[in-house]
Amino acid sequence: MNNDNKQIFLFVVFAAVVIGIAVTLVLGKNKDVETFHETSPKTAETAAKPEEASPDEHRKAAVMMENEETAGDAIPESTPAEPQKEGDDIESAEINGGVDVEVVKDKDSVADSEGFFHGKILPEKGIEEALLKVPGLQIKHAMEISNAIRYDVDLTKIKAGEDFKVKFDKDGNVEEFLYYPDIVTLHILKRDPVEKKLKYTAKTLPTERRFRIIEGKIDSTLNESLVKRDDVTRNIRAVTVGILECIVSFSTDARKGDEYRILVEDRYYKGEMVPGSKVLYASYRGKQAGFSEAFRYEDEDPKSAFNAHYTDKGKALVPNAMRLPLDTIRITSPFGMRRHPITGKMTKHHGIDYGAPVGTPVYAVAAGTVREVKETQLGGKQVTIRHADNTETYYLHLSAFSVRPGTAVSARQRIASVGNTGRSTGPHLHLGIKDPKGNWLNPQKVKMIATPQLDSKRMPRFKKQMDEILKLLDNTAQYQEWMRKYNEGPQPGDFYQQYKE
Ligand SMILES: [Zn+2]
Repeated sequence: MNNDNKQIFLFVVFAAVVIGIAVTLVLGKNKDVETFHETSPKTAETAAKPEEASPDEHRKAAVMMENEETAGDAIPESTPAEPQKEGDDIESAEINGGVDVEVVKDKDSVADSEGFFHGKILPEKGIEEALLKVPGLQIKHAMEISNAIRYDVDLTKIKAGEDFKVKFDKDGNVEEFLYYPDIVTLHILKRDPVEKKLKYTAKTLPTERRFRIIEGKIDSTLNESLVKRDDVTRNIRAVTVGILECIVSFSTDARKGDEYRILVEDRYYKGEMVPGSKVLYASYRGKQAGFSEAFRYEDEDPKSAFNAHYTDKGKALVPNAMRLPLDTIRITSPFGMRRHPITGKMTKHHGIDYGAPVGTPVYAVAAGTVREVKETQLGGKQVTIRHADNTETYYLHLSAFSVRPGTAVSARQRIASVGNTGRSTGPHLHLGIKDPKGNWLNPQKVKMIATPQLDSKRMPRFKKQMDEILKLLDNTAQYQEWMRKYNEGPQPGDFYQQYKE
């Protein structure tokens, strides 16, 4: 660094510190600002010890957390509503509630030999906050990255401890961003030299699928029996109990000695389990309850709303009464505090944004009556439906309406088409849910269901998958029984013959 540059650099640092202090004094009571001021010291700390723990240890920790919390399709917990004052415009708080703060950075932090700065996803924070911990990374960089990746990566599923790294070019722009949530998945953003935009690609390593059967008898409840087992993660338990609850009246029919059986698909890479274990099958047999079973269905599209559990007749088993508003679910912005995609300011988002092309059918998430069909500056073309319990659902940024005020709609009835009207960065549906007191609820926490019944178009595919599952159950059960006898008994040859038959 020559003298001129040094002076400019010192001046910039000085100015930034002065602005930082001024902002603290003016907005010291604001929670968002306090969050930001934790930034500098922690950045210095992490940067000073880049090799504190081996990457392997980090990965293992991340994998364990993943397996515990998110493998497969977790059932969302219900939580109380977050209070919110009623306003005329749903998205207005996104614009007025924010605070603009520049973050002061430690310029001496270390990049790796390839020029990447490393970071980790933070607990209960968006990807932008984690990015802002990276030395030299500004809000505009964070917004560029999150806007470039949100259509391909479900940002509501990011988990604390997951790794990413960023590299800048000589002009100070983001050149490359790598996000690796587990040992087999790599999300890549790279600046296109012609278009100058960040382009998304992904790499996944091939994994080996393994199947296992979990079975046993219950003492008190199915949930308590599963809690006691080491081989049942929280997610497997939640999914199993959730789907069986739809077909078994546990409160009246469960008896001691009733039996359960679960088929789980795990994924392995080089002998290590990776996230994404799935419950393919669950059954329950009881004196009073009789026999019930559930099968997993996988559509061609991994993001299809039809990916769920069903009875052998194709009836959906999802423990709630809410449907999804679109056929394909791609969350581009979750509920709650976030950085506004246009302003980059911290604001509260009162709904969920689902990315979808203009014209995609929008469905009512539950039966109700259309209360309002109108166009506003922020929400664009919008529909409001009032439901039997007086909650209301709001559908914003539409391109066309299929209903009028007063129309009675059923769940999953088409009400409109996705659009890009009002204040919007691209075609998407904003879904908001308001309780009778006027509080906005998190639609993801209001339990949702994919679809009530598989249609005739999907039934053949489902039947095929059911057959595969039943075959697997048979093979796996046979193998496990054989292993048990093999380990106990003295005649391996005989048992092998038995297994083969
Ligand atoms: Zn929105």
